[in-house]
Amino acid sequence: MAGYRDLLARVKDEIDEISTIDAHERLEGGDAPLFVDVREPDEWEEGHIPGAIYTGRGRLEQRIEGLVPDKTRPLVVYCSAGSRSAFAAKALGELGYDNVVNLAGGFSEWKRNGFEITIPRVLTPEQRARYSRHLLIPEVGEEGQQRLLDARVLLIGAGGLGSPASLYLAAAGVGTLGIVDADVVDESNLQRQIVHTTDRLGEAKVLSAKRTLEALNPDVDVRPFEERLTSENVDRILGEGWDVIVDGADNFPTRYLLNDASVWHNVPVVHGSIYRFEGQITVFSPGVGPCYRCLFPQPPPPELAPSCAEGGVLGVLPGIIGSLQANETLKLILGRGDSLIGRLLLFDALGTTLDEVSVRRDPECPVCGEHPTITEYIDYVEFCNAPAVYDA
Ligand SMILES: [Zn+2]
Repeated sequence: MAGYRDLLARVKDEIDEISTIDAHERLEGGDAPLFVDVREPDEWEEGHIPGAIYTGRGRLEQRIEGLVPDKTRPLVVYCSAGSRSAFAAKALGELGYDNVVNLAGGFSEWKRNGFEITIPRVLTPEQRARYSRHLLIPEVGEEGQQRLLDARVLLIGAGGLGSPASLYLAAAGVGTLGIVDADVVDESNLQRQIVHTTDRLGEAKVLSAKRTLEALNPDVDVRPFEERLTSENVDRILGEGWDVIVDGADNFPTRYLLNDASVWHNVPVVHGSIYRFEGQITVFSPGVGPCYRCLFPQPPPPELAPSCAEGGVLGVLPGIIGSLQANETLKLILGRGDSLIGRLLLFDALGTTLDEVSVRRDPECPVCGEHPTITEYIDYVEFCNAPAVYDA
């Protein structure tokens, strides 16, 4: 029966190896392979090769297809000395990865050469427990969770859509949430605006939301903007720097204002809107897909576009649409999945149906088109001929 050394020697015969010097050269050059670290978590936390992805040896076979779907991608597998990774490289070959090499000498040799290493920031034990269900998903993992903690998301409105969106973003550990809303909590809000409670009646919605969200997750810093978004304050508020904006406004002047500002500030907007039993959601990403004006060059006449305050809304509907907005936001932050850029989802709560229509960028769009005619803020209330209020 073959001992460990014989087995290792046999495996090494079956795989290709690369020296740390050659691997370093490829990392510095244009055709960097993907480094796959198969050591134990505590070894990874003490430092790893820059740009490497982590998957412990024990769960390599289970996780790798989620992490690296392209089986032709050049991979360099490493451990501390090159033995554990030799077995890992063989396993990857058996899984169909056809461009895998083992790093001879491993991370120890890499460090001995004085090559650069990255020391990852690590989650605290409390964070590890809180986000454990994220850490189990390869598409999120520790790196994704750090991204969420570093992310800054601005919510327009702490109403029907902003409530579920902000609750799920806070629970997920999105580190900074800005919330813009000038209203106070009213009894008629509580049928759907679940971030608020009965004992908050009369309290500013942004402060009520801040209390709920920070109580839910102390990792989250909520920045309240107790004001209505206007042409005068939009540059100041967006100028604080946001990765994603969640649009939960229920009036056309704010939507058009936010659209123009987000195009000029180059921030993606996860748009949602609701009315009675119907909701819609899409993602506007400046320069990548259409903007709100590409879809709706003109607002509908006010008599054809009643707000929830005027027309009513089923209480759970904003919960569904706002949760979909949170989902799109998390995906944008994580850089995972297919976003709703260029796709408009239409949800009907009575029939429980979800339809999708493709939406395209309009080269003639007055704001994001090839020859923009609107290059500064306009009078949005006059443009929409409607009062600006949040009451989603
Ligand atoms: Zn446009």
